[in-house]
Amino acid sequence: MTSGGPTTVSLVGSTGSIGTQTIEVIRTDPDRYRVVALGARASVEALAEQARELRPEVVAVADPAAAAELGGRLPAGTELRAGPEALAAIAAEAEVTVNAVVGFAGLPVTLAALRGGRRLALANKESLIAGGPVVRQARAEGGGEILPVDSEHCAVHQCLRSSRSGADEVARIVLTASGGPFRGRTLAELAEVTVADALAHPTWKMGPKITVDSSTLMNKGLEVIEAHELFDVDYGRIEVVIHPQSIVHSMVEFTDGATVAQLSMPDMRLPISYALAYPDRWPSPYGRIDWSRLSRLDFEAPDTSVFRCLALAYEAGRAGGSAPAWLNAANEVAVAAFLAGSLGWAGIGEVVEEALQVHDGAVLADVDAVLEADATARRAAAAAVERRARAA
Ligand code: MG
Repeated sequence: MTSGGPTTVSLVGSTGSIGTQTIEVIRTDPDRYRVVALGARASVEALAEQARELRPEVVAVADPAAAAELGGRLPAGTELRAGPEALAAIAAEAEVTVNAVVGFAGLPVTLAALRGGRRLALANKESLIAGGPVVRQARAEGGGEILPVDSEHCAVHQCLRSSRSGADEVARIVLTASGGPFRGRTLAELAEVTVADALAHPTWKMGPKITVDSSTLMNKGLEVIEAHELFDVDYGRIEVVIHPQSIVHSMVEFTDGATVAQLSMPDMRLPISYALAYPDRWPSPYGRIDWSRLSRLDFEAPDTSVFRCLALAYEAGRAGGSAPAWLNAANEVAVAAFLAGSLGWAGIGEVVEEALQVHDGAVLADVDAVLEADATARRAAAAAVERRARAA
């Protein structure tokens, strides 16, 4: 990217699913990449091991107690920084920042990277969804660019490269969804599903939050908003289609009638490699399709009467302002309650819907307004979870 040396990488959220897969990608090509900063919330053991292998200049830990524990275990020459703001501080210290933080907590990292004019390899879609207007502003002012580390948006990004004028020539973005573990089921059949059922994703291996989001199709709903924010295409031109094999990662239909799709075996290391190497394509072993074994690709419409979260996301996206922030915050609260066993699976959509009903329509002028919307929505969602627990 710059002087011909290795691309420097700051990896925030290094111990989660995307973080560890990013390190796998980097490990295959140490001449091309050098990790200069690692950050995580609290995973001391994993961070110490990563630091020993990668020898970064800085390690940031959001949780001060975890930082104290990590203190003596870093290699010589690696600086330790503690506190939530430390994660954002390392976001502008490399050519590429990988934001693999889970949930709304990733917002400061996204903003810091964009304000610093960096390449942001973004796996944290929540920051883009909750902080839409603020993220747009940071991007415009700082001159940073976003490379999506979300398989669908990485696919769209690649499809758009076949058009010279971008969004003007786009007739439709078609986001594919595996349909998750509950595809084809009725609401009655889903009344008693367990956390283990929801975590058994048929095609993708991911962290627990996004896997639950995939089971409700909220993940796809969040991705619809993400696509709107990333590619500046209105909601009427963003569609979702269920594609159980997860081979076609998304498609763009252009105004001349041509549809361009991106295909590979489902493997997150492929979008990670793409985001790191862009605008080049560097050789990697991921994603190859064996066409002799791939007999069919199926497509069907999503059932939004069962998977209510998808419809709610479109509504929140179209409402704009703080509605996507409310959608995201209420969903995070509901998913956490589901994972903790205090809310049923169908309750996730109900809690999000109730929160959106009391949504106050605030405008998101700055980061404080985003934080305020997020906090207010969390209280509304927690109250809705509480009401359900009392009624049960
Ligand atoms: Mg995705």
